[in-house]
Amino acid sequence: MKPDIGGIGMTSQRTRERLVQRLIDQGITNLSVLEAIRTTPRHLFLDEAMSHRAYEDTALPIGFNQTLSQPYVVARMTELLLRDGRPKNVLEIGSGSGYQTSVLAQLVDEVYAVERIKPLLDKSRKLLRQLKFRNIKFQHSDGGLDQHSSAPFAAILCAAAPISVPQVFLEQLTPNGRLVLPVGKESQSLKMITRKGDDFVTETFESVRFVPLCEGTLR
Ligand code: SAH
Repeated sequence: MKPDIGGIGMTSQRTRERLVQRLIDQGITNLSVLEAIRTTPRHLFLDEAMSHRAYEDTALPIGFNQTLSQPYVVARMTELLLRDGRPKNVLEIGSGSGYQTSVLAQLVDEVYAVERIKPLLDKSRKLLRQLKFRNIKFQHSDGGLDQHSSAPFAAILCAAAPISVPQVFLEQLTPNGRLVLPVGKESQSLKMITRKGDDFVTETFESVRFVPLCEGTLR
């Protein structure tokens, strides 16, 4: 499904095209992912003071010491998630501003967004409702602790970095399900772990920089 951006999207059409071109130049090839980035009004996910920078390919602050992910990283993680076919249901841990959530919701049937900072969750829920998304379910919880009530998932995307891959993520994957996440402390890398029956196959990609996955404290 597409976000209902009415007239507000048109103002930044050209800067958005430039961003998409930059992602193509950096090696993003999945056309559905590029289209979702093109149609997502990233400026609406930022505070007004930051919104003029919305179509730069950079992470930007969203308050509470958290950041809206860099568009390249959003595109890259989404592309990996879709590499071996479109997953039906996706668990997103650390939905923050809701930007990655809205990209995913245009590409899969159902997104389950989990965020531990309540004001961020409430703000993103309100915005995505305004944009007329109907396939997103939000939950205020710590995604690193317990299984989600709608598990298992065909895919899990985690937007905060644990030091090592949490067992609770692996347990929630369907057979052939895949998990995309950053792993590490000071030095992090992007990983995709695919479930093959009882085995898990790990692929490691480029270095990334994410906020840490927090444990046990809801705000
Ligand atoms: N893709 C988001 C990224 C937000 S930054 C965006 O573009 O806006 C990562 C988010 O993960 C933060 O909002 C942080 O609060 C959240 N987070 C960190 N640890 C978490 C946990 N254990 N459970 C749920 N959310 C968590």
